[in-house]
Amino acid sequence: MNKQQESRKEILRMENICKSYPLYRGGRFLANDHVNVTLHQGETMGIVGESGSGKSTLARILMRICDADSGRILFHGRDLLALRGEELRQVRRSIQMIFQDPAAAFNPKLKIREIICEPLRNFGLLSAENVDAKAREMLRLVDLPEDVADRYPNSLSGGQRQRVGIARAMILQPDIIVCDEATSALDVSVQQTIIQLLKRIQRETGVSYLFICHDLALANMFCDNILIMQKGRIVEDIRDLRHVRTNYGRHLLDSIFSVELGKRKVFDESLFA
Ligand code: ADP
Ligand code: MG
Repeated sequence: MNKQQESRKEILRMENICKSYPLYRGGRFLANDHVNVTLHQGETMGIVGESGSGKSTLARILMRICDADSGRILFHGRDLLALRGEELRQVRRSIQMIFQDPAAAFNPKLKIREIICEPLRNFGLLSAENVDAKAREMLRLVDLPEDVADRYPNSLSGGQRQRVGIARAMILQPDIIVCDEATSALDVSVQQTIIQLLKRIQRETGVSYLFICHDLALANMFCDNILIMQKGRIVEDIRDLRHVRTNYGRHLLDSIFSVELGKRKVFDESLFA
């Protein structure tokens, strides 16, 4: 395998994922309707859709926080949904998540060093005397001053907290990080610095991202490919832009060209000249 083929190694394949929720008045609501997503090593796949389109449901299924009704997830070729017990626990290390508001997931009584090292501690992979050094190493990775280790989450800004969330996610050296609206609550300028950080970490480690957001322009700055989700279904694959099929896809495309963005990665504007 040459280098390029190697970097295109498929690590995740979600196939025909379906998930429904019971409706209050009876019947069921299909939140994920035969969703297919493939992710390669070192790549960023965007999943973009308006609120309620089923993005977080898909993330929760991948994280095994909730069960799919049907479908298959292959992670490094292994059937993720069939794993149980210790096998599942080990695979969980490899897929980490960062959230819109990481602080909500942080214990406010713990110092940042404990928060960052908690996942490693939970796996019994770090002894108490090594927590401080490891936390500082991770703080350097996310460009935060090392003395942040001594602080509590509520003394940090939103952007700093998100960096701590990234450090905490990276500490287990995952293959995939699922970013569910991870920058959506931040100011645009802070958003950009977090995106730059995520890109640098990807270059350095080869981690793959599933980047979930409702903002196509933002996803376009960051992602190698984008899937557009609507009412539980993937309705567009942006690699296939010449064949935008839905009004929704067209509307989203219009909205991105009305914003000043700088470097665009996925879209080739000449297609629309
Ligand atoms: P998104 O992340 O794209 O905003 P979600 O996956 O959170 O979308 O939700 C998709 C749809 O499923 C929404 O209509 C939401 O109300 C519904 N939904 C999500 N979670 C539940 C649940 N636990 N019970 C019932 N309905 C849910
Ligand atoms: Mg969501």
